Amino acid sequence: IAMYEAKNQGRNRWRIFESAMTERITRTAVIEADLREAIYNNDLLLYYQPQVCLLDYHVLGMEALLRWNHPVFGWISPAEFVRLAESSGSMSDLGEWVLRTATTQMKDWLALGIDTRVSVNISSVQVCQPGFTAVLRGILHDVGLTGDHLTCELTESIAFSQTELVETVFRELRETGAIIAVDDFGTGFSSLSYLTRFRPEQVKIDRSFVQKLGYSKDDEEIVRAIIDMGRILNMKTIAEGVENREQVQILRARGCDAVQGYYVARPMTGPEATAWLLDWQNGGSKRFSAQFLVCD
Ligand code: C2E
Ligand code: MG
Ligand code: MG
Ligand code: MG
Repeated sequence: IAMYEAKNQGRNRWRIFESAMTERITRTAVIEADLREAIYNNDLLLYYQPQVCLLDYHVLGMEALLRWNHPVFGWISPAEFVRLAESSGSMSDLGEWVLRTATTQMKDWLALGIDTRVSVNISSVQVCQPGFTAVLRGILHDVGLTGDHLTCELTESIAFSQTELVETVFRELRETGAIIAVDDFGTGFSSLSYLTRFRPEQVKIDRSFVQKLGYSKDDEEIVRAIIDMGRILNMKTIAEGVENREQVQILRARGCDAVQGYYVARPMTGPEATAWLLDWQNGGSKRFSAQFLVCD
């Protein structure tokens, strides 16, 4: 009987495993298919989060972040559906939608007298696509914006094998006036060689280091080293995921150029971001900076 039960249990386990697998495969398949439709139907959203300079508190950029409220699954993390878009062949369509939407928003901000850059996450799949920069130029042309109001956020992972391609793409991006930020810096593999080779204008210090400021001396030293390196190599440092005043104070004291995170503002819808930007111009930045003048 014992043996029979064990076997039976094993079989049940297998069934549970199997149904979990099926569920995941179904979810993946559904999301992949629905994503194509969502891009086509304009059902996706871009939210925007400010990046604020710690010297004069101007808005260095507004990072565009994808949002998708799926009719069945609810809000799906961009980390999940961007990965699926990359593996299922819809990344170039998705990336184009993001670029077009973000640059159109930037154009609207300019019309309101808001002079900043929109900072767009670019997947390595896009960078490696032949004709990527031509597509980008086409979008800028359609929208009527120059690259001076665009930052391209890229992760380190790209550079690994495709050095020449990356060099060409970076040169072509810069010809439009766009600048380049390395995203999630410190979590990749080729950090240092990447920086000296490609000379990005900005380095974004990964949230995992920023969150430990005030708790872990080691992480504080890493952050300090990245900031110093940025200064030496003439790259602006932006700390990601800043959630409290203490973090801002430490970053400021160390000479970090800019901060982005919930402590400044959460990612906001386009209209919310516009209202935030106008308020920032009309006293918001003064209110924010006041708390750092007193105690430094
Ligand atoms: P990322 O580019 O590193 O974006 C920063 C992430 O940190 C965002 O997550 C943002 O909402 C979150 N964040 C900002 N401030 C704070 C904070 O103070 N605390 C915490 N805990 N989190 C904070 P999100 O929006 O979920 O995006 C996740 C990732 O998805 C992004 O990481 C980026 O890699 C990718 N992604 C988002 N939008 C796009 C896009 O349009 N294209 C591509 N290729 N990737 C995108
Ligand atoms: Mg980013
Ligand atoms: Mg990042
Ligand atoms: Mg990150």
